[in-house]
Amino acid sequence: MSGEPKWAGWGEPGKRTPLGDGALALLRSELGEGVPATPVELAEVRMPEPQPLPEAIAAAVGDESVLTGHEQRVRRSAGRSYPDLVRLRGGALERAPDAVVVPADAAQVARVLEVCAAGGVAVVPFGGGTSVVGGVDPLAGPHGRVIALDLRRMRSVAVDPISQTATLGPGLRGPEAEWALGERGFTAGHFPQSFECATVGGFAATRSAGQASAGYGRFDEIVTAVELVTPSGTMRTLATPHTAAGPALRELVVGSEGTLGVITEVTVRVRPAPAERRYEAWVALDFAAGRELIRSLAQADALPDVTRLSDEAETRVSLGLSGADGARRAALDAYLKLRRRSGGCLVICGWEGESEAVDRRRAVSLRHLRRGGAVPLGGAAGRAWERGRFDGPYLRDELMDLGYFVETLETSHEWSRLDDTYRAVGGALDRALRDQGTPGIVLCHLSHPYRDGASLYFTFVSRARSGDELEQWHAVKSAACEAIVAAGATITHHHAVGTDHAPYMEAEVGGLGVEALRAIKARLDPAGIMNPGKLLPG
Ligand SMILES: Cc1cc2nc3c(=O)[nH]c(=O)nc-3n(C[C@H](O)[C@H](O)[C@H](O)COP(=O)(O)OP(=O)(O)OC[C@H]3O[C@@H](n4cnc5c(N)ncnc54)[C@H](O)[C@@H]3O)c2cc1C
Repeated sequence: MSGEPKWAGWGEPGKRTPLGDGALALLRSELGEGVPATPVELAEVRMPEPQPLPEAIAAAVGDESVLTGHEQRVRRSAGRSYPDLVRLRGGALERAPDAVVVPADAAQVARVLEVCAAGGVAVVPFGGGTSVVGGVDPLAGPHGRVIALDLRRMRSVAVDPISQTATLGPGLRGPEAEWALGERGFTAGHFPQSFECATVGGFAATRSAGQASAGYGRFDEIVTAVELVTPSGTMRTLATPHTAAGPALRELVVGSEGTLGVITEVTVRVRPAPAERRYEAWVALDFAAGRELIRSLAQADALPDVTRLSDEAETRVSLGLSGADGARRAALDAYLKLRRRSGGCLVICGWEGESEAVDRRRAVSLRHLRRGGAVPLGGAAGRAWERGRFDGPYLRDELMDLGYFVETLETSHEWSRLDDTYRAVGGALDRALRDQGTPGIVLCHLSHPYRDGASLYFTFVSRARSGDELEQWHAVKSAACEAIVAAGATITHHHAVGTDHAPYMEAEVGGLGVEALRAIKARLDPAGIMNPGKLLPG
């Protein structure tokens, strides 16, 4: 994607994933008819007037890099969660940055932070703006004024082919980084569903996990070094494969969500671009059998690079939404019947690398899949998933246009507690949607498997309560978060904390843990200008 994404939706302007007739019929029969909702025009969006900012900001970056136009402020006023989109589409923004400041390099970032700390201006680091947890909400905190610090100009790439590492600028979007690495024969292997729009700095700041995390590792696992510019100075960690020099400061920076400073450089491990990508689909007997199967793969070191298991509801709906109704659906049913199986749960497996290694690793995985009772659906279904892996978010725009509430959340837990967590969170979502008078469909998949556990990713859809969408979202999201906390699971496996999960941080890390984080923030950001309201509870 070149240029700016949709301002109140997902991804490339003009690109859509339209809902087929079968999918529409399924929605209407299960959820009822929504009240169609059209977003306002960008020019009609209302927001507070910008406050005057210290002139020294423009002196630090140049006048042309301080943007105060209507469109720029709207575009940097929200992330991409459901409530963000409701606010944008409704056209009445409670908050917007007073300006969008676009530094060229780390030295300009340092100067801007210095001026903002002295002048009492909050700073929200802004990468791709794809946060789904309120991470880029332009909160001014006690300061009254706020800028979005847009890192789009900082897109350097330096590859060390001998060490197989790359030092990347924070403003590189996923495809730009992969294209630059690909030209030199490498890949970072980081493909979150937000890949098209999210940036390297955002990946690091949120501990992002890509779809192939079982093979390449999560983003925080491939980061070897970072540079963080803070209001108190610049902190750099060494790019070495390992160090025993005390607690890892790199770990403190990765996941700091812009609350400590601005990540201005990230060094990551890269790998030779795979000669082969082999994706296929299988069907497990049911979700419990599929879970056990993936556990056995993980604990035998036999995981495919992409490993993902849909529960019964997600399997049924994803087949419906992807248009696998009519003839394709009938063919699938006939095939499964032939194998004495109806229904079941979809498993997507993908192996990447040298052809020989792919064959070898796949053969080991397949033994486990068969032993676990899964039946193959073949390469075509796997390749269809691979082709459409970044299309899902476009569906959300279509659903919102039709008046549906659609949101996702995720967690992770140990294998021994995963089933309880699945039931507790799914049940809480189901009950909360009913309590809102809008019974819904709750879908889940298991992904990002480890030897000791895995992530659960929930998607839920219901009719939107037209005019009360934010209250509806808040009630349902809170019910799910409370169920996650009660299950002893993490409040987030990879979406990060932002504003939405900050109230649950104490449950996650304890009171002393929160105080320790506050103490570090007080040292690096004594004026408290860095991304107020995120990560730490208010
Ligand atoms: C449709 C969709 C699908 C998604 N799929 C995934 C997925 O598969 N896996 C996953 O992990 N996440 C996913 N996400 C969440 C989101 O894309 C990730 O959190 C991503 O890492 C954010 O990157 P970004 O560049 O958009 O960051 P932003 O949204 O711009 O910022 C996120 C947070 O990081 C801070 N930040 C950004 N850049 C910097 C920097 N250079 N220095 C310091 N702080 C910074 C911001 O202040 C903010 O707090 C998805 C989101 C959407 C909307």
